[in-house]
Amino acid sequence: MEHPRSPVLELEKAIAGCAFRIAPERESELAELRDVNNLMLTLVDEPGFNIRVRLVEREIMINVAALEFLWASAHAHLILYNEYGLAQRSGSSTFDTGGTDRSRKAMELLAWAGRNALVNGTDLWPTALPRPERFPAEKSDGHVTNELFLCALAWIIHHEIAHIRLNHQALVTTCSIAEEKDADVAATKWILDKSTVQQESRKRTFGIAAAILALQGLP
Ligand SMILES: [Zn+2]
Repeated sequence: MEHPRSPVLELEKAIAGCAFRIAPERESELAELRDVNNLMLTLVDEPGFNIRVRLVEREIMINVAALEFLWASAHAHLILYNEYGLAQRSGSSTFDTGGTDRSRKAMELLAWAGRNALVNGTDLWPTALPRPERFPAEKSDGHVTNELFLCALAWIIHHEIAHIRLNHQALVTTCSIAEEKDADVAATKWILDKSTVQQESRKRTFGIAAAILALQGLP
């Protein structure tokens, strides 16, 4: 990566390894798949949410703005879920998504990441808002967000790998809904089928949910 300009790239090593780490019981299987197909992950600077696979080259392309949006989205959903629970437990009858400094910043960050992805994808991360760190304090918002983000990204990467595993055709102009669904199912099965620890499966499922929420929330 030539431009380590974004704090999300502090997680670059974890990003590179997340497809393995989400399902360690299938690590050797994935390593074989990677080696047989000569799979590559490439980070690029582009606007939009552009995680995709070049089927012929077997190259998974990930743009930095998409990583930023995915982190901001995982963070916002985590904070809102948590603040909502706090409001409920304190007996509040209404819930304001920007009602605390913590939730207001989370929503501001999500709005920034959405705008950035929409415009040029290279805006600097706002200094006053929460940001990814490589070594956040244990169980802090930053720590939980990193884990959610990495699980979400792993599912998206497994979706792209599934296009290769399932021998999907490199159609440039036609987007096949059936192939997209098949890739979603294959990625989910890869991540959950051989997980034997309930807590682990739950964490992975939260990650998948975070990915879907981010994709649904794209500007
Ligand atoms: Zn796809």
